[in-house]
Amino acid sequence: MLLEATTPSLENEFNPWLAAEARFNEAATRLKLDDGLQKVLRTPGMEVTVHIPVQLDDGRLEVFTGYRVQHSIARGPAKGGIRYAPDVTIDEVRALASWMTWKCAVVNIPFGGGKGGVICDPSVLSEGELERITRRYTAELVDVIGPERDVPAPDMNTNEKTMAWIMDTYSMHRRTTVTAVVTGKPLQLGGSRGRPEATGRGCLFVTLQALRRFHMEPSETKVVVQGFGNVGGMGAKLMSRSGMKIICVIEYDGAVYNPHGIDVNALMLHRQETGSITHFPGAEDIDPHEALFLDCDVLLPAAKENVIHSGNADRIRAKILCEGANGPCTAAADKILEDKGVFVIPDILANAGGVTVSYFEWVQDRQGFFWNERLVNARLEEIMEDSFHSVVSYAEKHGVNNRTAAYMLALDRVVFAIKLRGLYA
Ligand code: NAD
Repeated sequence: MLLEATTPSLENEFNPWLAAEARFNEAATRLKLDDGLQKVLRTPGMEVTVHIPVQLDDGRLEVFTGYRVQHSIARGPAKGGIRYAPDVTIDEVRALASWMTWKCAVVNIPFGGGKGGVICDPSVLSEGELERITRRYTAELVDVIGPERDVPAPDMNTNEKTMAWIMDTYSMHRRTTVTAVVTGKPLQLGGSRGRPEATGRGCLFVTLQALRRFHMEPSETKVVVQGFGNVGGMGAKLMSRSGMKIICVIEYDGAVYNPHGIDVNALMLHRQETGSITHFPGAEDIDPHEALFLDCDVLLPAAKENVIHSGNADRIRAKILCEGANGPCTAAADKILEDKGVFVIPDILANAGGVTVSYFEWVQDRQGFFWNERLVNARLEEIMEDSFHSVVSYAEKHGVNNRTAAYMLALDRVVFAIKLRGLYA
């Protein structure tokens, strides 16, 4: 599907496909990318739709629709998660697949971009039903995915158990165990040490570089974190361990604030015991809708997309915005944040720690030799720091903001690979 090269109107601000397009257009225009290459990069290389018949626990037959999109394989096998949700659409999967192409290129790992999804509601499906959906979806895609072709990973509502089923199904078809077909597997089945912490750890590494750039000490840095899940929880824990003060944590059901710094481990325990971060003895409850606009040095939105938009971006008071989540700022918010002088570490860089350690998992599986956590973290640090400096120096050299620089750098790398390979006629 080809779309007009325009910035999304405000009513389209939250559409992921248009958001991805807006960033692509900006970078492609600045790079003066020729029309033919733009066409190639706007169009996914391959899209597969599968209709999966599955017997439900009550004996009824149901047919689920699943997708796998490979946006680009110019730099290596497609890489990207599989999500299960009732509102999955092919447009969304396409947008997310292209996002993965740019993310892998920014951190310079040898993957293209892919994404998958199955339209289903996991909240009403039993584990057995989910397993049957997963196995049949995998069987339908057995010639599409593979360590050298396309390597899925968990995404919304899929997890390491889902990856274990995919690995097993694929291996049964191939008549040999193929651990490198997916990443995000359990450690015992070829998963990597350090993967659960990797995205939050990546956020820490790039934030530390940003602080250095502004001659700010971690011990004098006040951080607000939105979303206390995998990325936000781990990010908060590691940032706090590196000396930063986590002054506020925001969740969907409340926010807690302590100007002297929150004990993150104690807050995790409190949430485990009570089911909520609110009423935590070490902090005061504040309005979660206002907490995003607290005066702070670092804001880590790590919950969901579109939380910072044209209606509230001018209220952001953070100096550094580290995008832990995918797409927390809309394209319209980008401009407002730039005018305010907020230093944005864009998602395709900031949260690329996860896919980077997925790459390490794939490497380890193919080597059959597993690294200790120290090595995983050290290699992650090197990649995140190098990528941060590449993006920031690209931004300075071309006089653009960090997000545009990240996209320009990514596009440049993908186009370079396409040109080197040439077109197979
Ligand atoms: P998660 O489900 O573990 O955590 C998300 C947290 O945000 C939950 O605690 C949830 O309650 C909270 N939340 C939801 N809506 C909220 C709201 N409106 N306000 C405040 N809090 C809210 O998910 P995750 O894996 O941490 O992913 C978070 C984001 O990071 C997503 O955008 C995801 O795509 C992105 N991401 C994750 C990874 C990864 O490795 N997990 C990698 C790259 C990007």
